[in-house]
Amino acid sequence: MARVAIVTGGTRGIGEAIGVALRDAGYKVAATYAGRDEAAQSFSRSTGIPVFKFDVGDFAACKAGVQRITKEVGPVDVLVNNAGITRDSTLHKMTYEHWDDVIRTNLSSCFNMCHAVIDGMRDRNFGRIVNIGSINGQAGQYGQVNYAAAKSGMHGFTKALAQEGAAKGITVNAIAPGYIDTDMVRAVPPNVLEKIVARIPVGRLGKPEEIARGVLFLVADEAAFITGSTLSINGGQHMY
Ligand code: NDP
Repeated sequence: MARVAIVTGGTRGIGEAIGVALRDAGYKVAATYAGRDEAAQSFSRSTGIPVFKFDVGDFAACKAGVQRITKEVGPVDVLVNNAGITRDSTLHKMTYEHWDDVIRTNLSSCFNMCHAVIDGMRDRNFGRIVNIGSINGQAGQYGQVNYAAAKSGMHGFTKALAQEGAAKGITVNAIAPGYIDTDMVRAVPPNVLEKIVARIPVGRLGKPEEIARGVLFLVADEAAFITGSTLSINGGQHMY
């Protein structure tokens, strides 16, 4: 039987590439999104992957969303916590709302979504959870205390839940992407982006498909001994 995978924020960017790669590998995929209906519908039409709209920062909405996916697609074997946002500014200019939005969407979402799938995974003695962190959660970044804190929190969350899941066949890993060519990075001013690319040893931005490659590796049934790990996919940008 095909395994069922949820990809949060699965309708654009890195999430889109992850969903397509999982579908091509034989998984039954459900993609979630926040509000851009047109992008989501066009993604669904072109890929055949069903889409589900709910806010990953909302605990009750995640419970209800996972229940709907379970009913319509099947019991969830694989969860990829990919949905994320940035609201950049230096701390002295950062509003509380921008702090809170980023923590809710990037970090609380991991708790909300994992909480909604974990009992089923425990009952079936199988689960694969992959959290999409960031190089900026590992290294910090000017103008991103909210984002760096959330992503760094995801890495700690990953290691803690990996210990809880280990005896139940549930692996929990993180991927820390470097700079990837998506809408999120296209929003960076061109002069700043140029400086960023100059620091990437491979000499270019990464492609969403190059993150999807890592997800496929980590969610495989054969990856049962890999848990609590962070896979850095960053074109060699391990130090600034
Ligand atoms: P995009 O901005 O291209 O896509 C974000 C996706 O997340 C969309 O599908 C969006 O839905 C969804 N989303 C946003 N907020 C919510 C929410 N509250 N509830 C549900 N879904 C939501 O992002 P990327 O593909 O660039 O990034 C994906 C992940 O990778 C993020 O976690 C990001 O932090 C991380 N990352 C990205 C890097 C990069 O260079 N791009 C580098 C390192 C990490 P909608 O379309 O409806 O808005």
